[in-house]
Amino acid sequence: AKTNAALMARRRAALPAGLGQTYEVFADHAEGAEIWDVEGRRYIDFAGGIAVLNTGHRHPKIVEAVKAQLDKVHHTCFQVLAYEPYVELAERLIAKAPGNFAKKAFFLSTGAEAVENAIKIARAATQRQAVIAFGGGFHGRTLLGMALTGKVAPYKAGFGPFPAEIYHAEYPNPLHGISVADALRSVEHIFKYDVEPQRVAAIILEPVQGEGGFYVAPREFAQALRALCDQHGIVLIADEVQTGAGRTGTWLACEQWGVAPDLITMAKSMAGGFPLSAVIGKAEIMDKPLPGGLGGTYAGNPLACAAALAVLDVFEEERLLERSRAVGERLQAGLRALAQQHPEIQDVRGLGAMVAIELFDGGDHSKPAVELTKRMCAEALKRGLVLLSCGVYANVIRILVPLTASDALLDEGLAIMGEALKAAKG
Ligand code: PMP
Repeated sequence: AKTNAALMARRRAALPAGLGQTYEVFADHAEGAEIWDVEGRRYIDFAGGIAVLNTGHRHPKIVEAVKAQLDKVHHTCFQVLAYEPYVELAERLIAKAPGNFAKKAFFLSTGAEAVENAIKIARAATQRQAVIAFGGGFHGRTLLGMALTGKVAPYKAGFGPFPAEIYHAEYPNPLHGISVADALRSVEHIFKYDVEPQRVAAIILEPVQGEGGFYVAPREFAQALRALCDQHGIVLIADEVQTGAGRTGTWLACEQWGVAPDLITMAKSMAGGFPLSAVIGKAEIMDKPLPGGLGGTYAGNPLACAAALAVLDVFEEERLLERSRAVGERLQAGLRALAQQHPEIQDVRGLGAMVAIELFDGGDHSKPAVELTKRMCAEALKRGLVLLSCGVYANVIRILVPLTASDALLDEGLAIMGEALKAAKG
């Protein structure tokens, strides 16, 4: 019989070290919010393939839609011969994006590509070069994605030089001493110290920082950035690769801003596990690059488009936005109860079902509990729960459980989190 240990040995021999792996487990099959490994062990999936499985593993409607598409056509390259599901998906996503203006959308395969393309479009539209991103932000592993990312190790270390004209401002994070006013001042500092606003093409931010630690940008911060962008003719980009597709209780997190970004990037859960990403935005900006300047051989693959259309149907039929808010409330309530027993948990936060706890040794905010966080994840895995950590300080545990998970399964996962923390403290 296959074992995780034997497969890990083969993996180590054949694959480079730079390809990280959180747990030494090989999946065999999965369903809903559960995974079984090659040794027959069952796990509750609180990681969701890093925010990809809001509709769960192998949702029957999505599997059925992909199978049906597979029997018709599975590749033409959209820029050679088109197919309707691509256009229908663009129409439906445009209708769901905020902003009282004409919009267009097109597709790529990965989150990093969507981000790259949003920057390309902003530069072409403004004929400017500079881009402002935020410390702690994550935007992908391509050259431009790395340059925009605001975390050195492990994402940027050793991979430079990076593209020029990328500047980092501070992201609001009161827990770590950065107020909204501080963050806005740091943008003004870039205008003073580094580049005049008339040369800035775009400001890109995650509505909730994902890899950076599940820090939520307050509404007033987004509104202030919107005003700043309007004042200086800068394109505002919401990177919704992790927050999008219903994770935060609305289809897009930026719907909760009360102001609309010019461009939005999506990926991950939008196609329920099939490789698809999108740039959605203001038509007059989206139309600026020359024909042929956008696209890709696999971009907007028919199977992925069929999956994404099924994801939209499932969200409507199963009222998953409501469910996202309910899942978030249930998780936060459970984690708050846990925080009462464990002073190490100093923050329980989130937006919709994008929920996290932040751990500090002895509850001291100057001591991020890096080792405790690692041990808690390891203890959870032993007890059959897949947890993910994140954060600039590596002391955050985030939950990205499928929104289709039952309350019973959520409670089972929460109980394991409690046992795991107890065990991790020793
Ligand atoms: N942007 C954000 C906000 C992300 O969370 C990620 C992935 N974690 C990316 C971009 C990059 O996506 P991908 O890995 O699909 O390239």
